Amino acid sequence: MPFDQKPPRTTLRSVASLVEAGAVAPDDRERLEAVSRDFAIAVSPAMLAAMRPGDPLDPIARQFVPAPEELDVAQADLADPIGDEAHSPVEGIVHRYRDRVLLKPIHVCPVYCRFCFRREVVGPGSETLSSTALEAAIGYIRAHDEIWEVILSGGDPLMLSPRRLSEIVAALGAIPHVGVIRLHTRVPVAAPERVTDALVAALDTEKAVYVVLHCNHADELGTAAAAACRRIVRAGIPMLSQSVLLRGVNDDPATMAALLRTLVRHRIKPYYLHHADLARGTGHFRTSIAEGQALMRALRGDVSGLCQPTYVLDIPGGHGKVPVGPTYLSADGPDGRTVRDPHGNSHAYPPEQDHKN
Ligand SMILES: *Cc1c(COP(=O)(O)O)cnc(C)c1O
Repeated sequence: MPFDQKPPRTTLRSVASLVEAGAVAPDDRERLEAVSRDFAIAVSPAMLAAMRPGDPLDPIARQFVPAPEELDVAQADLADPIGDEAHSPVEGIVHRYRDRVLLKPIHVCPVYCRFCFRREVVGPGSETLSSTALEAAIGYIRAHDEIWEVILSGGDPLMLSPRRLSEIVAALGAIPHVGVIRLHTRVPVAAPERVTDALVAALDTEKAVYVVLHCNHADELGTAAAAACRRIVRAGIPMLSQSVLLRGVNDDPATMAALLRTLVRHRIKPYYLHHADLARGTGHFRTSIAEGQALMRALRGDVSGLCQPTYVLDIPGGHGKVPVGPTYLSADGPDGRTVRDPHGNSHAYPPEQDHKN
């Protein structure tokens, strides 16, 4: 339900301001101060307006308002959950797959998600990559002609000013072997007012540009967010989405189906559903992989294929992302295979002939 007081006009960045806004209980203050020493806090006006303040079970509040559970560090939690550091040849670049790199020009976000896998490195401080480091990072891309796609990540690249963003897009666009520029962002939902004509114009280049929206619940896509996405799509930029499977936010089939359909209705194609990474202090958000597979199974068949994301796990240690099912096909045997339909019934699939040579 909407905020009953007048929502603050600025982003809340401290436990004190969250207490004042009624978003956290005063009793939790001390423990949340401890959380805030480790992990940045930012709740934007748009996201504050989308939540029921003071209800820790609200799916929006749960994503952005710090919780005492973040102090519980499980043994499996990792400081660098997906092994970015192992693949960083120069500052600001992660080159894990041959044909694509991440370029991280900025370390800040409009909101700080409590489950973020980069929560150890994002936040206020050294806001952007220095211009020398940025030039070196772009130089690395220029020098590696196997790089076909550059993924702007961070931090949130749409937190850059239109001028800086257009400089980066122009520099990347001028590299002949770069075919695609992809941006991963939460700005259209968390700070839709930033998506101005000037910002969209900054993305104009001859190269293909894709915008991947990070969105985890249908309530994030209110009127202003929808208008921001429309502005991007109308500029000829296809949008995809990426979500994280989060306990208490979107881990039931009805909530997930509502999210996926809302995205598609706004012309945003669901791309990945991420299994929650082993980031420090995020155990309360993590489902089991079996629960994730069951959720995906529930969606298949009942929800349009357009709405289906690929459920992926980013293998700890920097080994890459892989789909983690569910699988519908049994192993190949002398009698062929069995394949399961969306209703859970098994069917025989005949042995396959070897047509090679
Ligand atoms: C996720 C990721 C990518 C992009 O992977 P896709 O499967 O192409 O979406 C690229 N590089 C790194 C380091 C990543 O973590």
